[in-house]
Amino acid sequence: THFGFTDVALDRKQGLVDDVFHKVAERYDVMNDAMSGGLHRVWKDVLVSMVKPSREAPFRHLDVAGGTGDVAKRVAKAGGPSTEVTVLDINHDMLRVGRDRLADKARAFRYVAGNAESLPLPGSRFDCYTIAFGIRNVPRIPLALAEAYRVLKRGGHFLCLEFSAVDVPVLDHAYDLFSFQVIPRMGKMIAGDGEPYRYLVESIRRFPGVDTFSDMIADAGFRRVKATRLTGGVVTIHSAWKL
Ligand code: SAM
Repeated sequence: THFGFTDVALDRKQGLVDDVFHKVAERYDVMNDAMSGGLHRVWKDVLVSMVKPSREAPFRHLDVAGGTGDVAKRVAKAGGPSTEVTVLDINHDMLRVGRDRLADKARAFRYVAGNAESLPLPGSRFDCYTIAFGIRNVPRIPLALAEAYRVLKRGGHFLCLEFSAVDVPVLDHAYDLFSFQVIPRMGKMIAGDGEPYRYLVESIRRFPGVDTFSDMIADAGFRRVKATRLTGGVVTIHSAWKL
């Protein structure tokens, strides 16, 4: 059937994504810095400034597609001792690198291997859900949004940081040039393979526009959906609430 075919294509997409991150896990952090000129740190700081963990009441945070724990680390720092941070990723290698990196920190993190499309977690459990540079890798975005809604408590906060299409035509051209020429070459230099990066750049191109994504979030049941563009719209943070 048509759906059967689509599922095969989508499963293949997840396979390609997994290949990329198995290959790059060890060098992921270095590459992030090199390719964003360190800007990913600023973007993640802005994202986490919107989390606002309660310092008195217990605060349960879930970071999906958490990779090597960059966002989790920041949330733990922003929160008090009653903040509990769960890092979920589909890729064991990324989680392992994160666990090694965060091991010396006194703070305990929970690590869960799982798929954003079907979270192996109980419903109505978390105060906040973040996903940074992860949603574009997920083949069935509406499923991931439905799962985000399910695991959040009422009053819970959804935050998504992702690359977005650029509005300024000149910048757009420069961005294309950078994405399709420079990034795969840097990937080749640092990770020894440019091909995975060509795939990632394509996945940014195919990601829905800012307004379309806002509508998808609202369709999943979220309220007060708001999009904040950073750095001339290179990345966007979508914020929404389960009310
Ligand atoms: N959030 C981290 C950061 O900002 O540094 C990592 C972002 S990295 C670009 C994307 C991550 O998404 C990878 O660690 C990958 O394994 C994970 N991922 C891809 N597909 C996923 C899925 N379906 N469910 C959960 N994680 C997924």
